[in-house]
Amino acid sequence: MAKKVVSDLNLKGKKVLIRVDFNVPMKDGVITDDTRIRAALPTVKYVLDNGGKAIVFSHLGRIKKAEDLAKGDMTPVAHHFEELLGHKVVFVNATRGKELEDAIAKMQEGDVVMFQNTRYEDLEGKKESSNDPELGAYWASLGDVFVNDAFGTAHRAHASNVGIASHIKESAAGFLLEKEIKFIGGAVDNPVHPYVAILGGAKVSDKIGVISELVKKADKILIGGGMMFTFLKALGHNIGKSLCEDDKLDLAKELLKEADGKIVLPVDTVCAKEFADVSGEVKDVNAMASDDMGLDIGPKTLELFTNELKSAKTVVWNGPMGVFEMKNFEAGTLGVCEAIAHLDGATTIVGGGDSVAAVEKLGYAEKFSHVSTGGGASLEYLEGKALPGITCLSEK
Ligand code: ADP
Ligand code: MG
Repeated sequence: MAKKVVSDLNLKGKKVLIRVDFNVPMKDGVITDDTRIRAALPTVKYVLDNGGKAIVFSHLGRIKKAEDLAKGDMTPVAHHFEELLGHKVVFVNATRGKELEDAIAKMQEGDVVMFQNTRYEDLEGKKESSNDPELGAYWASLGDVFVNDAFGTAHRAHASNVGIASHIKESAAGFLLEKEIKFIGGAVDNPVHPYVAILGGAKVSDKIGVISELVKKADKILIGGGMMFTFLKALGHNIGKSLCEDDKLDLAKELLKEADGKIVLPVDTVCAKEFADVSGEVKDVNAMASDDMGLDIGPKTLELFTNELKSAKTVVWNGPMGVFEMKNFEAGTLGVCEAIAHLDGATTIVGGGDSVAAVEKLGYAEKFSHVSTGGGASLEYLEGKALPGITCLSEK
C-alpha cells in the first residue's frame, strides 16, 4: 500500500513535526560531513514554501551517560542547518518543556524551530529508543502533522518516529524517505527483470537475511567479498587463510541448492599472504595455497560479473567485492562500479554503510539510480522486512 508523502499534505498554517536524520559525523564539535543536512533541505523547504511551520528534530549519536550529552549537543548542527537553509532557525536546547512550547506557540507560517537531540531522552530510561508512549504522545502534541524523513532509523521503532506517528492524525514520508521507498521498496516488491543482485562484504552471517531474500527474488546473485570463501569452501575448494565462517558452511550449501544455479561465484581471486596493502597475486579459486588469503575478486571474475550484469534491468548491490580500503584490493569493487555505470535503462541501487562509502570513495555515486542512505535500515529493507518507521505512516 502506498504511504502518504509530504506533498500529499495540506501544510498551510500547520505545525509540521519533521523527523530528519542529522546524525552527522563530528570531530571536536565541528561537522566533518554535512551530506545528511543537505539531503534534508528539500523536505524542510517544501514545508516552508507551502505555509507550514517546521519543527525539526533528529538524534545525534548515542546518549548513555551524562558525559555523552556534550558530544550529542545539536547546537553546531542547528547553526549549520540555518546557514544551509538560508533561513532563521530558532534552536531550543531542550527536548520538552516550557521554552520549547513557547517557541512553537510563537511560530508564524514559514518559521523553523529545531529542538535538542531526541536521544537526550535516553539518558533516563531510554525513552526515545524504547518508544516510551508518554514521550511519543508529548511530541505528537506539539504539532498538527508528522513528516518522517529519517531513513537511517526507520528500522527501529522509536518515540521520534513510530511514537509520534501513532499519536497524531496524519503522517507522511519526507522526500528522502519517499526515494528509499520507491527504489528499495520497488526492488523488493516489484523488480523489473532481469534482476541481478551483487553481494559481498565481510561476512555471510551479517547478510543471511538478504541472501535468502535475494535467492527468492533475483535472477542472478553474484557473490564476491569475504563471504565468497564460505561458499567456495562449501563447494570443496581450498581457501587458505581467507575469511571463512565454518559454522555457516551448511547454510551456504543450502543456499546454493535453493538458488539452483542463480548464484554465481568467483573463478579467481587476488591473494596476499597477510592482511595488508601489499601487491597481491591473482589465483584461480581451485589453485589457492594454504597460506593464501583472498582479498579481492580477480579479473576473470570481474569479466564474468560484468557479463552477467549486461542485460540487467534491476541491480541491487550490497557489500564490497574486496578490501577496497586497500589500494591493492580495490579493483574488483571499482570494476563492478564501472560495469554498473555502463548499464543503460537499468535501475541500480547500492546500499550498506561500507558499500556506499566505497562507491563514494571511488567516485561512482552519481552513476547509481539510488544510493541508499541508511546502513542497517537499507539491509533490513532489502531483506524484505517491514520497517516500523515506514509502516507507521498514513496510507494515501
Ligand atoms: P556493508 O557495510 O556495505 O553492508 P560489510 O560491512 O558487510 O558491507 O562489509 C564491508 C567490509 O568487507 C569492508 O570493510 C571490506 O574490507 C570487507 N571485505 C571485503 N572483501 C573482503 C575479503 N575478501 N576479506 C576480508 N574482508 C573483506
Ligand atoms: Mg558494514
